[in-house]
Amino acid sequence: MKPSLTDETVNKIRPIKWLMLAGLIFVLPLLSAAGYVNETWGAPFCAICPSRIMTTLLTGSTDQLYVDTASSSLMVLSVIGDFLFGLMIAIGLTVRQPFCRICPMLALHAIFRKVGLLRLVKNSTPRCEKCGLCANACPMDIREIHTEMEKKDITFQDCTLCGRCVEFCPDDKVMQFRYLGFPIFSSSAKYFKKRKQAQTQWEAISLANLNTKINKK
Ligand code: SF4
Ligand code: SF4
Repeated sequence: MKPSLTDETVNKIRPIKWLMLAGLIFVLPLLSAAGYVNETWGAPFCAICPSRIMTTLLTGSTDQLYVDTASSSLMVLSVIGDFLFGLMIAIGLTVRQPFCRICPMLALHAIFRKVGLLRLVKNSTPRCEKCGLCANACPMDIREIHTEMEKKDITFQDCTLCGRCVEFCPDDKVMQFRYLGFPIFSSSAKYFKKRKQAQTQWEAISLANLNTKINKK
């Protein structure tokens, strides 16, 4: 598994979530509340969020996909929402979790991570081999989890606490999730080997199925 974006691109994208937070969660709703823009702009993030469209589509409903022509504001917001949804699907074919990287909720998460009870911890010494498997597995391309060797708490600001880095680290207890200081999920050499074996088997079966289909044609 390789990083889906270069470090330079990741660093350029990171500030966007703060702009999204400021604009969509504070500025526009405040302007709406003060009467400078109409009430349609009071909850703009909900109106453009691609997850809203995706989750309703998964239930079989296309209600959220249409362009709302009830007013010009609703039309602008629904067009932006549909465009963003299409764009994220297209980018998602090559980049892992594209919308998560710019989502204002990630910025809120980054603010509250300092008081969060669940922490991502790295016990670097003496076992971290700097192999980079954790960083390559990270869907948010947080390279720092592999290079950081001093800090124990590596809950960096873009971390969604998904746990993939813990799952992919091949060394016992180097990566851990701790809740209130207690380890609840740790990296393990045994689990790493089992997962790798399962993945190799799955890839071999998929390849064999593909060959069978090609030969049948
Ligand atoms: S996967 Fe584990 S051993 Fe490898 S760099 Fe990350 S923390 Fe270190
Ligand atoms: S928990 Fe998930 S998002 Fe956070 S550093 Fe690990 S892999 Fe990345």
